Order: sequence, then structure tokens, then C-alpha cells
Amino acid sequence: MTGGAEPSGPVSGEHAPLPPNWSCGSCGEDWPCATKRGRLLQEYGDRATLSVYLGSCLAAASEDLRSASVTSLQDRFIGWLPRGPKSTGTV
Ligand SMILES: [Zn+2]
Repeated sequence: MTGGAEPSGPVSGEHAPLPPNWSCGSCGEDWPCATKRGRLLQEYGDRATLSVYLGSCLAAASEDLRSASVTSLQDRFIGWLPRGPKSTGTV
């Protein structure tokens, strides 16, 4: 056995959601996984735009995950977003 040679697979680091369970296609966690969350924050930079995108994902996921409660899905898809970066947020 000669270990070390990594298979040059396709997009192994995509971390894309896999319906109907909406688990991560790369690491298997609930999407968006921790890795994907970090990437989304970097890619979008703008919370408003990102929340719109996640909202569309939430809408699509709620169609697939009808057994899950809306509250848990909202928390899963949007609840992790950092709020009120520098403004005077009501904490
Ligand atoms: Zn992942």
C-alpha cells in the first residue's frame, strides 16, 4: 500500500447542499456546514445579500424537509449569521 497519493477527484471541496436532506455533499453535516458558512461570509461579505440567498435556500429546503419545523430550519439556515456588525444593535 502506498499511501499519500490523493485521488484527483472532481470538486471535493464544494460543500454544496444535497437535497432532499440538505446535508453537505463534502462533509455530510447539515448544510450549511461550518466550512460552508465561513466561505459564504467570505464570498458575500454583505450580510443583506447573503441573507437573501440563504432565504431562498431556506424556502427550497422547507419544501424538501416538511417534517422539520420552520423554526429549526430558520435557525439552521439563517440563525448563524452574525448580527449587527458595528451598528448599535439591540442586544
Ligand atoms: Zn461541508
